[in-house]
Amino acid sequence: MSTTKEIWVFAEQRNGRIAGVVNELLSKAQELAEKSGFEVAAVLPASGCADLCQELFNYGAKKVYTLDDPKLADYQNDYYSRAIAALINDKKPEIVLYGATTIGRSLAPTVAVMVDAGLTADCTQLDYDTEGCNLLQTRPAFGGNIMATIICPDHRPQMATVRSNVFKKEKLGDSEAGETIEYPVDLSGVPERMRRIEVVHEDDNTIDLNAAQYIVSGGRGVGKPENFKIIYDLASELGAAVGASRATVDAGWISHHHQVGQTGKTVCPVVYVACGISGAIQHLAGMQSSDVIVAVNKDPDAPIFDVADFGLIGDLHVIVPEFQKQIAAFKA
Ligand SMILES: Cc1cc2nc3c(=O)[nH]c(=O)nc-3n(C[C@H](O)[C@H](O)[C@H](O)COP(=O)(O)OP(=O)(O)OC[C@H]3O[C@@H](n4cnc5c(N)ncnc54)[C@H](O)[C@@H]3O)c2cc1C
Repeated sequence: MSTTKEIWVFAEQRNGRIAGVVNELLSKAQELAEKSGFEVAAVLPASGCADLCQELFNYGAKKVYTLDDPKLADYQNDYYSRAIAALINDKKPEIVLYGATTIGRSLAPTVAVMVDAGLTADCTQLDYDTEGCNLLQTRPAFGGNIMATIICPDHRPQMATVRSNVFKKEKLGDSEAGETIEYPVDLSGVPERMRRIEVVHEDDNTIDLNAAQYIVSGGRGVGKPENFKIIYDLASELGAAVGASRATVDAGWISHHHQVGQTGKTVCPVVYVACGISGAIQHLAGMQSSDVIVAVNKDPDAPIFDVADFGLIGDLHVIVPEFQKQIAAFKA
C-alpha cells in the first residue's frame, strides 16, 4: 500500500476532451495541497488517453493515474466505479473531488458506497482544517437558507462533488512536468447491466450556459412561453446564452437545460441580464458571482435589485426589445 497522501481529482472526459470543471478542481486542489501538504493527482479513466495527461499537468496535477481500457472509453457507471474503487482501495487517497456533472453525480455516490466513504454533494466552497486534518466541505442546506460546513472525520477518502464555475481554473503553463502511472484495470466479472445503444446530442442552438460570457435569463415575468422570443432575440444580439428561472422551467416554458440556480446550473459570466426574475435565494445561488448583473423588473422592491449592478424598473416587454434595438444600433 502506498503511504503518499494525495488529493485526487476525477478527470472526466467525453469524446477525448477533459471537462472544464476538472481543471477548476485541479486549481482548487493545489490550494488545498498547500495547506495540507498532500500531493495533487488526477484519475483518468478512458481508452487510449495518454495525450490527455499534459492538460492535467498544466492545471496542477503532479501525477495522473490512467485507467486505460476500451470499456472505459465512454462513461458507464458499473465499469468506472469498479476501476476507481479498486484504485482508491489500493492507493488510499485522503481526498477525492468530482465535478457535479451528470457523470460525477452518478459516479461519486457509487464509489462512495464501494469504498465505504462519505460524500458531500454540490459543494460551493472547500477548505482544509490543518488542526483537525479534515476537508471542510461547504454547501447550501435547508433550501439554500443556510450554508453548512460538513466534515468526514472517521472515514477516508473524504469525497465531494463541486459544480462547474464555482472555482476559477488557473493554468500553470503549457508543458508542466508530471508523472503518468498506468494503473492496471480489471473489469472481469462486472455484469453488463447497461448497454450504450446510441448517443443523441441535444439539438439546442444556444451557447453553453457554463461557458457563456454573456447570459440573458427570463423569469415568470416573461408571462408565457412565446414571450421568451424577446429573451432569445436580446441574447442573439449580445452573443449570449439563454438562462431561465425554475418557475419558467417548472411551467414548461423552457427546458431544464437552461435553468440557473441551486437546482440548475451555476454560472459565472461577465454579464448576467435577469429579466422578470424576482431574485429568490435559490436563483441567486447560481448566478451571484457574475461580474456584472443587470436586472429588469417592474417591482422596485424585487430582491434581484439587491445584487444587481444596474437595475431597470419597468415592463420587460418594453425594456428588453428597446435594449436589443439600442445594442443593434450601437453595433451598427
Ligand atoms: C429546493 C429549491 C430549489 C430551487 N432551485 C431553484 C433554481 O435552481 N433556480 C431558480 O430560479 N429557482 C429555484 N427555486 C425556486 C425559487 O424559490 C423561486 O420560486 C423562483 O426562482 C422564482 O422564479 P421567478 O423569479 O421567475 O418568479 P417569481 O418569483 O414569480 O418572480 C417573477 C418576477 O417578475 C417580475 N415581473 C412580472 N411581470 C413583469 C414584467 N412585465 N416586467 C418586468 N418584471 C415583471 C415580478 O415583479 C417578479 O419579481 C428553488 C426552490 C426550492 C425550494
